[in-house]
Amino acid sequence: MRAKTRTALFVGLVLLILGGAALLGCRLGWLPAANAQDDTTQSSMILMDTVVDVRVDGPNSAALVERVFARMAELEALFSRFIPESEVSAINRGAGDWVQASPLTLDLIELGIEMGRLTDGAFDITIGAVLDLWGFGSDYRQVPDEEELRAALATVDYTKVEVDRKAGAVRIPEGSVLDLGGIAKGFIVSQGIAILRTARMDRALINAGGDISVVGRRPDGRPWRVGVQDPDQANQIRYILPLDDQSVVTSGDYQRYFTVDGVRYHHIIDPSTGYPARGLRSVTIVGADPAVCDAISTAVFVRGWEEGRALVERLPGVEAIVISDTDAWISPGLAQAVTTP
Ligand code: AMP
Ligand code: MG
Repeated sequence: MRAKTRTALFVGLVLLILGGAALLGCRLGWLPAANAQDDTTQSSMILMDTVVDVRVDGPNSAALVERVFARMAELEALFSRFIPESEVSAINRGAGDWVQASPLTLDLIELGIEMGRLTDGAFDITIGAVLDLWGFGSDYRQVPDEEELRAALATVDYTKVEVDRKAGAVRIPEGSVLDLGGIAKGFIVSQGIAILRTARMDRALINAGGDISVVGRRPDGRPWRVGVQDPDQANQIRYILPLDDQSVVTSGDYQRYFTVDGVRYHHIIDPSTGYPARGLRSVTIVGADPAVCDAISTAVFVRGWEEGRALVERLPGVEAIVISDTDAWISPGLAQAVTTP
């Protein structure tokens, strides 16, 4: 079977500034020189398989941007299961046994487990073996054999991940594969933002390929503006939402996928079937913590149109834009704020 493969680096959300004329992200630089503050630094780097932009306004911005990137790179080196030396790789190799891990890795895994609970297992950090069968994470992608898929699904159960804070160790069941791809990017952004908040920056922004978190407001005192992409047209913005000291994350079926016989198979897997979740095209979550937004966007996507919206409504402090092939829903708390281009 031949599969057409596509990996999109830039996805989901774009930043709009100063009247909305400029699309931000990996396509354009984002601060027109005429609007630059005295001490503004913005810079990009590839991390987590995506372009990460950091912009900081304030004293020592250049040094801070450097620190943020160094921190994010350090965390990627701990969390990626595609880096053999990472702690997550060690945990996967040691499946069945306790494996030592640093406090931040334990934090992320604990948050992942909590997100599993909060979403009744729609979000499951032990989905790795199923993703491997589909080939997400490698260059070769395929529709897996049913039997193999059933066997891989039997290894998926976040409730069996154990964290021992005192011993600083994690244990996953033998055969299970930890995959933090649905939450690590948001978590890493949250750690970058924490550095900027501690340094008391008035204004800063991190955009990790559409996982966006902002501190404060734009230079003109108005909220940042984020464009939510049309799932079918990478260059079209469907909605614009203001962002004020918040985070926004999008999960979409157009971000990583391959097509076989006209069917699109994407990277967000329903843990109850082992197949890509059907029903939605994209889910955008707005909230305080980018790591939580990241996990929730994946979970709502898995849950689909009815249950996904119900999940958003029952989570405090979480707003959403949910887009299906034929419909779109903006949660009540966002309805007033969202506009169309
Ligand atoms: P996102 O783009 O944030 O929705 O995350 C998608 C990524 O999360 C995938 O590339 C996988 O690494 C991982 N993933 C896929 N399905 C799930 C799931 N049901 N629960 C947790 N992580 C998942
Ligand atoms: Mg996610």
